[in-house]
Amino acid sequence: MTVGVRGPVRTCVGCRQQADKRNLLRIVWRPAGPIVDPAQVEPGRGAYLHRDERCLQLAIKRRAIGRALRLSPGQAVDPRAVTAAVLAALPAASVPVEQATSRNRGTLA
Ligand SMILES: [Zn+2]
Repeated sequence: MTVGVRGPVRTCVGCRQQADKRNLLRIVWRPAGPIVDPAQVEPGRGAYLHRDERCLQLAIKRRAIGRALRLSPGQAVDPRAVTAAVLAALPAASVPVEQATSRNRGTLA
């Protein structure tokens, strides 16, 4: 059965929703720390996450990234390292709207 299937589907480690692999961010573990793999070509296991800060927070809270990557208990995922790697990969559009509009208020007064 291939009805409705358009490509490889992965489960977001944050919200647990399934999504097209191409719409998810792939995180790969390296000895130096987690890296984001935008092209999804790095070898090894990957953890998939929506490009959404809420999914990132959920994944960290539930320690889902370390589980998805099958890390041993001694290899704790550093939440700050994961957050920094993912936020760096998110589009700049996730900057709060208020910051963009507040600049115009002075000219109206
Ligand atoms: Zn998600």
